[in-house]
Amino acid sequence: MKLLVVGSGGREHALAWRLAQSPRVQMVYVAPGNAGTATTRGLKNLPITDFETLAEWAHVEGIAYTVVGPDAALAAGIVNVFEARGLKIFGPTKEAAELEWSKDFAKAFMARHQIPTARYQTFDTAAAAHAYVDAEGAPIVIKADGLAAGKGVVVAMTLDEAHAAIDMMMVDAKFGTSGAKVVIEEFMQGEEASFFVMSDGKNILPLASAQDHKRLLDGDAGPNTGGMGAYSPAPVVTPDVHRQIMNKVVKPTIEGMAAEGRPFKGFLFVGLMIDEAGEARVVEFNARMGDPETQVIMARVKSDFAQLCEMAVDGELDRAEIDWDRRTALTVVLAAHGYPDSPRNGDPIFGVPEPTDASIVFHAGTTLSEDGHLLTAGGRVLACVGLGDSPRMAQAAAYDVVDEIKFRDMQYRRDIGYRAIGRSRS
Ligand code: ATP
Repeated sequence: MKLLVVGSGGREHALAWRLAQSPRVQMVYVAPGNAGTATTRGLKNLPITDFETLAEWAHVEGIAYTVVGPDAALAAGIVNVFEARGLKIFGPTKEAAELEWSKDFAKAFMARHQIPTARYQTFDTAAAAHAYVDAEGAPIVIKADGLAAGKGVVVAMTLDEAHAAIDMMMVDAKFGTSGAKVVIEEFMQGEEASFFVMSDGKNILPLASAQDHKRLLDGDAGPNTGGMGAYSPAPVVTPDVHRQIMNKVVKPTIEGMAAEGRPFKGFLFVGLMIDEAGEARVVEFNARMGDPETQVIMARVKSDFAQLCEMAVDGELDRAEIDWDRRTALTVVLAAHGYPDSPRNGDPIFGVPEPTDASIVFHAGTTLSEDGHLLTAGGRVLACVGLGDSPRMAQAAAYDVVDEIKFRDMQYRRDIGYRAIGRSRS
C-alpha cells in the first residue's frame, strides 16, 4: 500500500521512516517533506500543502491512509477535508483537536471529567485578569488561549512578570486573536513528562513516555525552543505512574471526548507534571505527536507501525499490541545559528552518518541545493538519535553521532538526558 504523511519536520521524517519499514508499504509520500525524507529509501516528497489539492491527489493516487504530523494542519481541519471526501486519515478532526488549540476548552473539559490538572480561571478582559493575579499572588502561570507556536505560556515567578504577560497577550495582542482570552492557572511543582497514546476514538493503545528539553542551553537555561532533545522511556513514569495516567487521565479523556460527540482519533500527547509523591496532573494536551519525542519513540517501535495506524484508522485498536525495543532512545537536536529567534539558512552540512542498529539521524530544517548538497533550512536542523541499554549509553551513542556532523555555528545542548541519568545511576 501507499501512505501519505503530512508535515516537514523531524517528527514527520521519523514517522514516515518507521511506516516505510512495514513489508506491506511500497511508498510513503511526505508532503511537503525535507531533504531527509527526499533521500530516505521508501520515502518520496510531494510539494503540495493545500488540503483540497492534497486530498484530490491522495484519491487519484490510491493512498491507503494519511497520517498528520503538525497541530496547525489539524486545527485548520485537514482531517475534516479528507473525511468529507471519504478518504482514510489518522488524526483528530478540527473539533476533537480543540483539546490542543483552545486551552480554555481543554481546562473546562478536564473540569467536566474530573481529570487532575492545575486550578484555573479564564479571562477575556485584561482588567479582570490583572485583578485575579493580584488576588492569587506569584508564582502563577499565564497562557494565551489559542495556538502560539509554543510561545504562549509565561511561568511568572513575580507579580510584575504576571502583569506584563497579561498586557503582552491581551493589550499588545502579541499572539493576535490567540491571546484575546487567557487562562491563568496555579503553578505546579514537580518533574515534567510526556505520555503518548494512539486512539481510534474508542480504544486506546498506550505508546511510550518521554521527556524533552525545551530550553536552548545546558542546565535548562536560555530561551524556550520547540525542543532541543528528548529521550524515551522517562524513568519518572514508573509502572504506578503509568497506570495512574491511563486510568485518571487518558481513559476519561477518550471516553469524555466520545461522550461529547467529538471522538478523538489520532495521537494524543499528554504533558504532565509529576510531584514528589508520584501524583500526576495534566499540564497540557496536544492532539498530535511531539517533536522531538517522536524521533525517540519511533526509534523504539518494533511492531509493524503501518499496520497499527491502519487498525487505528479502521477502529480496530482493541486488537492491537505493540512491541518495544527495551533500550533507551535519546535524541540531540542540532539547531541553526540564530535559533530560536532568527535562524540562518543555507549553511552546508557535512558528515551525516548512515543509520546503524544503535543510531539514526532524522532531518528537520534541511534542503538540498541544486547540485545536491545538504543545507540548513530552518531552526532545528537535525535530530541525532542514539540507542543504548541505559540512559547514559543512549546518550553516548547520540553524542557519537553529533561528533561526526558539522555545519557553521551549529548549536546543541551537551546535557540531554541528565535527569534520566541521575535517576538510573548507570
Ligand atoms: P508546547 O510547546 O509544549 O505545546 P504550550 O505553549 O502549549 O507548549 P504548555 O505546555 O501549556 O504550553 O506550557 C509550556 C510550559 O510551561 C510547560 O512545558 C511547563 O514547563 C510550563 N507550565 C505550563 N503550565 C504550568 C503550570 N501550571 N505550572 C508549572 N509550569 C507550567
